[in-house]
Amino acid sequence: MADIWDGPPDVADGSRPFPGGAPLPYVPQGLVRYRGIRISPRLQGYLQRLDDYAAHIRARIHWTSGYRTELEQEELQLRYESGDPSVPFEPLPYELSKHRTGDAADGETFPREATKTIGAYAIHIGLGWDSREPWHFELPGRGYP
Ligand SMILES: [Zn+2]
Repeated sequence: MADIWDGPPDVADGSRPFPGGAPLPYVPQGLVRYRGIRISPRLQGYLQRLDDYAAHIRARIHWTSGYRTELEQEELQLRYESGDPSVPFEPLPYELSKHRTGDAADGETFPREATKTIGAYAIHIGLGWDSREPWHFELPGRGYP
């Protein structure tokens, strides 16, 4: 292994180590602001369609989280471990979370009764959605290039 850093990683999964052995942090490029959160440009059109659909059925989605830094994910993990009811599920490891790339967004649906309808629409347009984690919407696939 070279003992000097000679450029950005070949792949975006951070697998290429620094000379000291720590993984090179993955920093997503080109995040965009969308209704108070930061997301990847690829996710933006999907969220816009969800919001348009929500408006159509007289509901709305309050977006609370998109891209997260590793520190923000660690804070979420600590809140989960301390029993914070607003974090009912253990967060994925940062490396596996699509919040790491801005390819996932969390949003609360109002009224609550519309949550499953909006989730079904999310699946219909090609997003990943699961009724056990109804606030979470993500792009399919690996989630990063
Ligand atoms: Zn999420």
